[in-house]
Amino acid sequence: MILNIAMDGPVGAGKSSIADAAARALGILHLDTGAMYRALGLTALERGIDLQDEAAVTTLMRAIDVTVAHDANGQRTLVDGRDVTGLIRTPEVSMAASAVGRYAGVRREMVALQQRLAATTPMLVDGRDICLRVLPDAPVKIYLTASAEARARRRYLEMVEKGDTTPFETVLVDVIARDKQDMNREVDPLRPTEDAVILDTTEMDFDQSVQAVLRIVKEKYHE
Ligand code: C5P
Repeated sequence: MILNIAMDGPVGAGKSSIADAAARALGILHLDTGAMYRALGLTALERGIDLQDEAAVTTLMRAIDVTVAHDANGQRTLVDGRDVTGLIRTPEVSMAASAVGRYAGVRREMVALQQRLAATTPMLVDGRDICLRVLPDAPVKIYLTASAEARARRRYLEMVEKGDTTPFETVLVDVIARDKQDMNREVDPLRPTEDAVILDTTEMDFDQSVQAVLRIVKEKYHE
């Protein structure tokens, strides 16, 4: 059987970096599905498509080719062969990703794409609907979370490191707004599935979080 690990959680729970380190330690790929929604959000913004127009956004999703590639630096995200990895981490694209992720037609296409990727390659897949939709049969399911303040603080420190001067309060407001949008949408809202192990990293540093993920994988996978 292919070792697939499903990981969900809210904005800024450190999912991407923790998932990356855990996948490396396990010798498997990390699929960051958020980057795929971000790639669609970016493309919609670039093409001036109204994010509230479900039909237009869904048509766009069907028209473009969102793919990922993995190299030594991790995942590259591509739209019609163009590498958009460096363009998808802005607050504007974050909100656009969350907006386009509300639509059922978009989610259907994304889930199918992600399932195809994970069917042939062992992966740690992180996102919002991975335990529920993308990998419902995964042997290991983790819901990674932390308090909104802790998540905003981590995101803020990451942004400071990159020279971003956005104030902490703005980052916190953005985290709470995106949580609200992701947890209250009609289609597959973010919430832990019953069979997921909930890992709260509020009081953990990065290494402790990675070790905790690896412990869960070990316990669950050998059950
Ligand atoms: O994980 P990340 O913050 O990069 O995800 C960006 C946005 O994409 C999320 O706020 C969420 O709305 C959406 N998303 C989703 N389903 C996933 C991954 C991300 O709806 N599997």
